[in-house]
Amino acid sequence: MNNLENISIVIPYKKNLYLENILHSIKDKFNEIIIVGDNLDGFTKFSGIKFIPGKYNASEARNIGARYATKEFIFFLDSDCLPNIKNLHNINKLKFEKKSIFNGVYLNDKKFGILSNTISTYIKTRIRESNKKAKLFSSANFIISKSFYTDIGGFNESMEFYEDVDFNVRASVFGGNVILAEEVDVLHYKKYTLFSMIKEGFLKSLKGSLNVLLFKKYYKNIGLNVKPKYFMFVIQVLFLFVSFFLQSKIAFVLFLLISVFNTITLNKTLFNPFFSGIILGVYLISNIFGSLIAFLNFLSIRSKFLVRGLLDYAICLLRVISKSVKPVQIIQYVTGRCNLRCAHCFYKETLDSKDPGEMEVDDIVNQTASVSPVLWYSITGGEVFIRKDFAELVLKVHEKIRPKFFSLPTNGWYTKKTYDGVLKVLQRLKNGNLILFFSIDGPEDVHDKIRGPNSYKRLQETISKLKYLQKIYSNLYINIVITVQHQNHMHFPKLINDIQNEFEPTAISINLLRYHSLNSEKLEDFILDSYESAIAEYDKYRNKNSYNFIFNSIIKAKEKNQKKIILNAARHDKFTTPCSAGKLSYVVMENGDVKPCEVLDNVYGNIKKDSFSGIIKKSNVIASENRSWIKDTKCRCTYECANSTNALFNKNQVPGLIKTVISDILSK
Ligand code: SF4
Ligand code: SF4
Repeated sequence: MNNLENISIVIPYKKNLYLENILHSIKDKFNEIIIVGDNLDGFTKFSGIKFIPGKYNASEARNIGARYATKEFIFFLDSDCLPNIKNLHNINKLKFEKKSIFNGVYLNDKKFGILSNTISTYIKTRIRESNKKAKLFSSANFIISKSFYTDIGGFNESMEFYEDVDFNVRASVFGGNVILAEEVDVLHYKKYTLFSMIKEGFLKSLKGSLNVLLFKKYYKNIGLNVKPKYFMFVIQVLFLFVSFFLQSKIAFVLFLLISVFNTITLNKTLFNPFFSGIILGVYLISNIFGSLIAFLNFLSIRSKFLVRGLLDYAICLLRVISKSVKPVQIIQYVTGRCNLRCAHCFYKETLDSKDPGEMEVDDIVNQTASVSPVLWYSITGGEVFIRKDFAELVLKVHEKIRPKFFSLPTNGWYTKKTYDGVLKVLQRLKNGNLILFFSIDGPEDVHDKIRGPNSYKRLQETISKLKYLQKIYSNLYINIVITVQHQNHMHFPKLINDIQNEFEPTAISINLLRYHSLNSEKLEDFILDSYESAIAEYDKYRNKNSYNFIFNSIIKAKEKNQKKIILNAARHDKFTTPCSAGKLSYVVMENGDVKPCEVLDNVYGNIKKDSFSGIIKKSNVIASENRSWIKDTKCRCTYECANSTNALFNKNQVPGLIKTVISDILSK
């Protein structure tokens, strides 16, 4: 099969005059053409072309088109771009490979006028001049393998402008090889008026600059991508304006001198050496205004987040100091479904029940919003990536409950679901973080024995794919959680080294096997010895990788102190500190039941029936009696989540915490 036969054309469409002509020209050249968009009625006369109607932005339309594409490669075309028909057969000579991305430029033609030709030339020059770290290509005309496109997550559907640069960045992080190929050049049927050119320059720059400012790490290799030399055109136009509006002869002379300079040194590649310089100057001035407005917008967004963040911390601090019953920590079970059946899973009965129970996103979030903000919100299950609405859930929790740390455990089985869900969240999350804990139970053979064949390999694949996202998103953290238990105790402490070296996580959470009842049998000493040795080994790495938070050193110190509380309870049944479960920390089951922790069976109420704040208030007799019981019995256990809060917010824990913070800082 030659290349042309192996290409699906995908065209996102919003009303324009040129698509019909373009289809006439290309319909016999390709085996598959897919058009996605609205107002497609006039095109039904074209047989053999797939039309997918619907109102979509260009990114959504391209992603939908790609899903329908049946060929190995996709040629994305904009609906006003006509490929160079004479040259098309040469596409067969290109060496198609999985990570190759062939892109063309806009060809000039006198019929488009000087405005359009100037902008096309400018875009062409920027593409040719783009740096090696992040080679740019336009979303209007490029060929890519369908599998690479799908692997990296397609276009960012939350963007209407600048989505091509966003895609460029991800393609380059994943090793995309951008090749400029004249076989993919197109005639761009776009006629600008002065107004439409200024408007486009302003809007593109506004949206693009805002993205660059909000997602600095993502765009760090690209920045604004305007070479300083182009600002000579801005100066040229500014002198023209000054000479015109202030009737300044000196300004006019300077304008002429700079025009001559620009024409000789910079304009060589432009369509019309003199007028194109002025047009480009005007276009760049509209860019500058767009960037300025974007910067002001960015300042206002960041200030809002900063003020609200400070207030949120103050509210949480007040809850801690006043011994309020409002939470700083919520563990929300979001599904009772899981693809695995681990030997040690305490949740097996729920997983195997006929109705695993799941609440709608809005029900979870709206009821819980009555106790926002919180410091730490964790979703758990079951396997959370089984939920199709994972991204919506995370984003709504961030918006309405405003946790400062958002975490979740996962078994890492679903590489694509996990990557797509995480990417969708990160693309939209302007404030906040996502902390993933991957569950590992031992070296590969032990892990697979406990979790099922292939579990370790799937987890490795998922983590290594997410590591690419970590390179471009500063708010994604990849952690490991491991439970010391009968099947793996003999592998500690070496296992901690192996995990650290293989995955380089931000943190390893070492858990102790739990039986989920206060009256359950005591753990054997050899399990506790392994647990202790694992903790000691991890202490070498605890501070190696940091969270990008102001409270990183406290969180890291907490990891150590929490283990002391757990060991006291497990080894000596010793009470260390009052438990904050049912006061500062709550667990919400997938059916909506609100409990103080995972260990006790006491249910304070159900968020399907009442608001969270109503359920936990002091006048709730069930809740207040249980709180008294927890206090009076000096309740103690090894439950990690509640003991995290206990390690941070009890008076008798503060000196130890400070000591650890100081010794951590000194040992760095
Ligand atoms: S992955 Fe988690 S929820 Fe699923 S069976 Fe294993 S321990 Fe249970
Ligand atoms: S110590 Fe706290 S977390 Fe543990 S069972 Fe008692 S109340 Fe629950």
